[in-house]
Amino acid sequence: MYEWVNDEPRLIEKDYKKRYNKPCEEIRESGKTWYKGTGIAWEKHPLKRFIRKFGCAHCGNKGVKIIAAQFSVHPMSGDRYWDCEVFCEKCGKYTQKAYAEND
Ligand SMILES: [Zn+2]
Repeated sequence: MYEWVNDEPRLIEKDYKKRYNKPCEEIRESGKTWYKGTGIAWEKHPLKRFIRKFGCAHCGNKGVKIIAAQFSVHPMSGDRYWDCEVFCEKCGKYTQKAYAEND
């Protein structure tokens, strides 16, 4: 599992708060289904059962909002992998995680 803390979002456009008008929308992008939006709580996210919950890696806040996520199963190996980015309203940082079952 990889983890990054950023000052700006990486998995979604920098102007995502203006660009999206829903907390979470389904988007088809280069063969994957992404969920992107202005930010949604873990409990309400469509992928909540597939992605391991995490909080802000900078300040420890658990009440973060998911702004971008995707979950996939590799067609050949069957390995699961996902990417997820959350925004922390307490410290203003973005935490991004990437998981691959075969790592
Ligand atoms: Zn934080």
